[in-house]
Amino acid sequence: MNVLVRGNTIEKISEAPIPIGQNTKVITGGGRTLMPGLIDAHWHAMLIRVTPAQSFGDVGYVNLVAAAEATDTLMRGFTTVRDVGGPVFGLKTAIDEGIVNGPRIYPSGAVITVTSGHGDFRQLTDLPRRIGGMLTRMEQVGGAMVADSPDEVRVRVREQLMQGASQVKLTAGGGVSSPFSPIDVSTFTAAELRAAVEAAENWGTYVAAHAFTPAAIQRSIAVGVKCIEHGMLMDEATAKLMAEKGIWLSMQPLPEDLKLGFPVGSVQRAKAEEIWPGIAKTYELAKKYKIKTAWGTDVLFSAALARQQGAILASLSRWYTPAEALVMATSTNAQLLALSGKRNPYPGKLGVIEEGALADLLLVDGDPIANITLIEDPAKNFVIIMKDGKIYKNTLDPSMALTGK
Ligand SMILES: [Zn+2]
Repeated sequence: MNVLVRGNTIEKISEAPIPIGQNTKVITGGGRTLMPGLIDAHWHAMLIRVTPAQSFGDVGYVNLVAAAEATDTLMRGFTTVRDVGGPVFGLKTAIDEGIVNGPRIYPSGAVITVTSGHGDFRQLTDLPRRIGGMLTRMEQVGGAMVADSPDEVRVRVREQLMQGASQVKLTAGGGVSSPFSPIDVSTFTAAELRAAVEAAENWGTYVAAHAFTPAAIQRSIAVGVKCIEHGMLMDEATAKLMAEKGIWLSMQPLPEDLKLGFPVGSVQRAKAEEIWPGIAKTYELAKKYKIKTAWGTDVLFSAALARQQGAILASLSRWYTPAEALVMATSTNAQLLALSGKRNPYPGKLGVIEEGALADLLLVDGDPIANITLIEDPAKNFVIIMKDGKIYKNTLDPSMALTGK
């Protein structure tokens, strides 16, 4: 097949040769596989290489480190990420302006949580909070915002939207990495969650809610949350509800190494032991009830795990065929991104190779549908990486690429 890219768009796809002008650059695929750029639907671009303590520290440092990681993310073939928490607006702008190479970013901005909820990384010495008083460091840097009433939720949601959030992220229940949120708890009240949904929908977009338990998931769905992050403790009834209502499940095949990273005996490790068995169970429920399922990694505070981004995708082969896994990480994830409606920062079609779609393309040395492990080694197997019609890597002709990498 022949594929013509003009500007940032796939203009024509044809079995017959496409007539080209003098200035058209021709790349001979040589029997390799052309596929859409990969999409990670649950990423935290600001929180990959730093430690938790550093993430609240020097903002300049955090951004520079995140920019370096963003370049590597793109070089792993991830041309788009949905960022579900972190002060990512500056990085996104710098990437869009071409100052830094990195993926397209669908930003949520700060995670919005309750006192002691998932994402509340304050210390006990920060208590008590005076309503309307000084913000803690965590909030000042825009990592997470604490909100304990519908009014506070509205303010924090609208602040993220003002900064350009394409969707809003709340935590509806406990989480593994947070020091003070048990896994079983529901955090926001229905009224608080509803306030977020109203503010987001008034703005033309949607709320994604972190939730593991049936109670937290069902409360979120009841007030209009469109996407559940994780969901790993869901039961049959909840799975059925999600399928019936067309609610997205943003799932992650979390690697064993992530769990082992929490020290034995720690509260986080105990919570991880509760969650991990739910991964297989939830994928099985998602398949059984045909839930709209997006794929992501949720890598946090680990450069080593980030390098496994492709391998984490390939690990979906425990439940899906290679083709199903690749579709999930491209066109299916792109459908979730499009839920941001008019707040979509990159209007146009992503995750597919078709005429009129945005030109985010990978040329793979081999056939990843026959051998999905090819995506585990992008440095070797992705010979061309194109985002928005621009070539960022080309080992066939390095002079055509924007970077030497
Ligand atoms: Zn996350």
